[in-house]
Amino acid sequence: MQSKDLLQLAEQYGSPLYVYDAAKIQSQYNRLSKAFSKVNKLRINYAMKALSNVAILQLLQEMGSGLDTVSIQEVMLGLHAGYEPDRIFYTPNGVSLEEIEEVNAMGVQINIDNLSILEQFGTKYPHVPVCIRINPHVMAGGNANISVGHIDSKFGISVHQLPHLVRIVENTKMNIVGIHMHTGSDILDIEVFLYAAEILFDAAKSFKNLEFLDFGSGFKVPYKKDDIETDIEELGKKLSKRFNAFCVEYGKELTLIFEPGKFLVSEAGYFLAKVNVVKQTTSTVFAGIDSGFNHLIRPMFYGSQHHIENISHPKGKERFYSVVGYICETDTFANNRRISEIKEGDILSFRNAGAYCFSMASNYNSRYKPAEVLWMNGEGHLIRAHETFEDLLKNQISLPVTTATV
Ligand SMILES: *Cc1c(COP(=O)(O)O)cnc(C)c1O
Repeated sequence: MQSKDLLQLAEQYGSPLYVYDAAKIQSQYNRLSKAFSKVNKLRINYAMKALSNVAILQLLQEMGSGLDTVSIQEVMLGLHAGYEPDRIFYTPNGVSLEEIEEVNAMGVQINIDNLSILEQFGTKYPHVPVCIRINPHVMAGGNANISVGHIDSKFGISVHQLPHLVRIVENTKMNIVGIHMHTGSDILDIEVFLYAAEILFDAAKSFKNLEFLDFGSGFKVPYKKDDIETDIEELGKKLSKRFNAFCVEYGKELTLIFEPGKFLVSEAGYFLAKVNVVKQTTSTVFAGIDSGFNHLIRPMFYGSQHHIENISHPKGKERFYSVVGYICETDTFANNRRISEIKEGDILSFRNAGAYCFSMASNYNSRYKPAEVLWMNGEGHLIRAHETFEDLLKNQISLPVTTATV
C-alpha cells in the first residue's frame, strides 16, 4: 500500500484507524501454500485470534483457508462468516468440558490439551474424532508471554506423558485423528522447528487412525527494515520432504496442517494515528498521538517494535522522538525513534498492525475503538465502523434515580 492511499483513508474515515491490505494477506497465503506444494494434502487454518474481523475471515475463506479458533465465540464468528464447521479447528486452553461439548455439537474439530478433559471427553464421546495437543518442550518464541512450548508451559500434554495419554485412549477407546503442536510465536530457527516436528512424528506412531498432523504456527515476520524472518521456503522444502517420508513410514497419506495468524495478517496491517502534541522536555521530544495502549498494546505488552513512519511529511529531516499515547499512565510506542520531522496534525503510520493489534484493543479510558478498513482492488472498504457513545453504554445498567441519590 502507498502512503498517499493511507493518508486519504485517514482523511476519509478519521483517526485513529486500522487499514488492512487484502493483497498482502493473499500473497502471504499463496506463499505458504507454494512453499508446501510438494505435500499433497495441505491445509492452512487461519488463527483468527490475530485479527477476527468477519470480512477478513471471509477474505481468507474465499482463498480456501480453514480456521483455527480458541474460544466458542471465535467458532461462532467463524460460522457466521460462512465457514463450514468441518473447516474449523477448536484449540482452546483451560476451557470447561461444557464449552468443549457445546463446540463439539456444532460439528467442529476438537483439539484437547490436557489429560483430565481428554479422559472425561473420551469416556462420554468415544466415537468423536479428536485431535490431541502435544507439548514437545522445545523452547521457542520471541517473548516469554508468547513462548508456549517450554517445560513449565500450561499448553498441551507433555510428550513425557505419552504413556499415560495412550493408556487413556486405550481405556476409553476414543478416536484420535490428529496430533497437534504449537510452540509459540516468533520462531526463527528452522532447525528448532524441524526438531520439534521430529518429536511430533515420534508421538504420532502411538496412534493408528491419524488423518492429520498439525504443526501449529509461530512463524516470525519482519517488524523492522532488514529484520530477520522465518525462511518459509526453506522450511517448506525440508519439512515437506520429511513429512512425505513419514507418511510412507506411517502407511497412509496424512494431511499437513498449519495454523498461522501473524504470518498471514501482520504485515498487511497499518495503524494510523494523528499527532496531537509535540512536546519538548529537557531530554526528550515526545510526539503524543490520538491513541494509546487501548488501541495497540503490543509495544507495551510484548516490547514489540512497530516501525513508525510520518506519512504526512515523509521527506522531512529525521529526528529522534518518543512516540507516546494519551492514556493516563505510561504508554510508550517507541523510544528515541528516528522519524521524519513531526508537526502537530501529522499522521503516523505503524507497520505490522494486522496481527494482535485491533483484536487486543479495549475501551480503557472510555475511548472508542477505531474503525477498520480493508484496502482491496485500489479501494477502501469500511469493515468496522468507529464506535460511538452508545457502544460505551451498551449493556450498562444505570441505577434508578432514587437509589443513586440515597
Ligand atoms: C495463537 C495461536 C496460533 C497463531 O500463532 P501466530 O504466531 O500468530 O502464527 C496458532 N495456533 C494456536 C493454537 C494458537 O494459540
